[in-house]
Amino acid sequence: MRYCARCGSEYQDSVVDCTDCPNHPPLVSAEEMRERGLPLPHELDQRRFVRAGIADDPVTAQIFADVLEEHRIPLIVRPGRSGVVDELTTGNLLPWWELLVPDTDQVRAARLLEEEKIQGRAYADEAGRAAEEEELEDERARQAPVDTAPPAL
Ligand SMILES: [Zn+2]
Repeated sequence: MRYCARCGSEYQDSVVDCTDCPNHPPLVSAEEMRERGLPLPHELDQRRFVRAGIADDPVTAQIFADVLEEHRIPLIVRPGRSGVVDELTTGNLLPWWELLVPDTDQVRAARLLEEEKIQGRAYADEAGRAAEEEELEDERARQAPVDTAPPAL
C-alpha cells in the first residue's frame, strides 16, 4: 500500500500520486509515514494537540504558523473567539489565537514561538524608540531659540 502524507489516503501500490490533494503529491510507503509521525488510515490518530502559544492578532498568528511550518511542526490554529457569540455578549474584548501542536512537539514549538516573540518585541521596541527620539528632537528644535537649559530627562 502507498499513502498520501498530506491527506492520509491509502492507495494501491500501482498508484504514484494522490488524486485527492491539490498538486497531486507523490505517495509514500507505510515506513515513511511512520518516520514522519503520521498515522496510517487504519490507525487511530493518537497525537494529542496541546497549546504551544497564543497570538493577540491574526497577523501574529500567521507569523507563528509560518515559523512552525518552517520547522515542520503540525499545527492547529484556533481563533479564541470562534463561536456563535460576539464580543458584546461574551465581554471578551481581547482577541487571541491559540496555537496547538502535538504534545511531542510542544517544547520545541513553544521555544520557537518564544524566540519569535522576543525578536518581534525587539523590532517593536526599536520602532517605538525611534519615534520617541524623533518626537524629542522636534521638541528640542521648537524650544531651542528660547530655552537654553539642558533638556529635562
Ligand atoms: Zn492526498
